[in-house]
Amino acid sequence: MSIFSKIIAREIPADIVYEDDYVLAFRDINPQAPLHVLIIPKIEIATINDVTEAQEQLVGKLFTAAARIARQEGVAEDGYRVVMNCNEHGGQTVYHIHLHMLAGKPLGWPPYTEKLKEA
Ligand code: AMP
Repeated sequence: MSIFSKIIAREIPADIVYEDDYVLAFRDINPQAPLHVLIIPKIEIATINDVTEAQEQLVGKLFTAAARIARQEGVAEDGYRVVMNCNEHGGQTVYHIHLHMLAGKPLGWPPYTEKLKEA
C-alpha cells in the first residue's frame, strides 16, 4: 500500500483540502511554494506510464479538482503550476500518481537549473 493510500484510509494524518468520491488533495509535508498541494486519485496508479484508457476520465478529475482548489485557496487569478513527476529522472518518490499544485509566488521557469550542455 502506498503512503498516499494510507492517507486515503486515514491510517496516517494529512492536512486535507479537498475530497470527493474519486480524488483526495492534501498539503505537501515539505512545501516548495507558499501553497503546495498534492492531488491524488483514490485508487493506486503507480506512475503516468500505468494510466490506462479506462482511467482517462479519472485522471481528468485531478485537473478539475486542481481548478476547484485554486479557487478555494484564492490563487486561481494570480496563477499556479501543476506538475506530475514520473519515475527516477522525473523526480518521482511516491509511486501513487499525484499532481503537485504550486502557487503563492511567481514560479521560476524552467523548473531545473542544470545546463543542457556546456556552451
Ligand atoms: P514526488 O517526488 O513527485 O513523488 O512527490 C512526492 C511528494 O510527497 C513530495 O513532495 C513529498 O514532500 C510529499 N510527501 C511524502 N510523504 C507525505 C505525507 N505523508 N504527507 C504529505 N506529503 C508527503
